[in-house]
Amino acid sequence: MGPPADLAALPKAELHIHLEGAVRPATLEEFSSRAGLTVPRSYDSLETFVEAFGVAWPSMSSPGDYGRMMREYCEDAARVGVRYAEVTMMTIGRPFDCLTTALEAVSKQSDVEVRIIADIPRILPMEVAWAVLDSVQGVPEVIGLGLGGIEVGYPPELFEDVFAKARQGGLRSIPHAGEDAGPESVRGALDALGAERIQHGIRAVEEPALVRELAERKIHLAVCPTSNLRLGVLNSLAEHPLRELWAAGVQISVNTDDPGFFGCDLVGEYEIAGRLLDLDRSGYARLASNAIDGSFAPEELKRMIRVEIETWEKSAGPASG
Ligand SMILES: [Zn+2]
Repeated sequence: MGPPADLAALPKAELHIHLEGAVRPATLEEFSSRAGLTVPRSYDSLETFVEAFGVAWPSMSSPGDYGRMMREYCEDAARVGVRYAEVTMMTIGRPFDCLTTALEAVSKQSDVEVRIIADIPRILPMEVAWAVLDSVQGVPEVIGLGLGGIEVGYPPELFEDVFAKARQGGLRSIPHAGEDAGPESVRGALDALGAERIQHGIRAVEEPALVRELAERKIHLAVCPTSNLRLGVLNSLAEHPLRELWAAGVQISVNTDDPGFFGCDLVGEYEIAGRLLDLDRSGYARLASNAIDGSFAPEELKRMIRVEIETWEKSAGPASG
């Protein structure tokens, strides 16, 4: 059985998406040639991707660039059924106007409701982590603090104090873990950072007790299959641990991570999950509901989108579905 033909119309939440990684390839080309930069197009590991991203990043520098990236993201997201997105943004090294201009772009459209996760790049000095937190405190649209980049050598424990302060201030703890480092990184994210959701987290599968704990505590994993494949976390999608995690009752969603760089979209990620998990129409609806459960959307919006998902599930869909 193929995926439903109306999968793009299934209302979705996207929980793991980086604004700077969602930049359309043509837009990035424009930005980088303006800056006289050549962004490497091939990467096969987190390290080589972080290098390529490091070349691209300085070219997306003005509030206008950020407004455009957010507007284009919302257009692209609406096309694949995204109703709500928690967009990770690098606020550091940017004028504060980049954030406000991006938020203005969100407010000018009504298709996608957006909240922001402020990203701490692990490999930068600790002052940067504190500066990220300072820069976003009190901005209502910023709902959480993220932690991204190379895990090996930069364990969660280093960031314990920053996350403690962020949580005291009402921000959610949403670090990346369990991508290029193993279960100890996921464990550290839970214990040292009080993680309420984990971006990736798939290598938790290497420790059965940890998988059980994630399921019991309903810690959501925002998984990105194509990203995992492109960055060499897996050799093939067939070996993706999505199936084990789903079977163990861990709450998971699928997401695109950096679609502008990986050439993926959210419908494609749902199709990958559909093949791995052998989903029927109700299964796809359950996967979409899972993402709502794992989000920090306002309760009223969650209720509304759940109703929309149910309506999609009950509709027969196009005849070819
Ligand atoms: Zn990510």
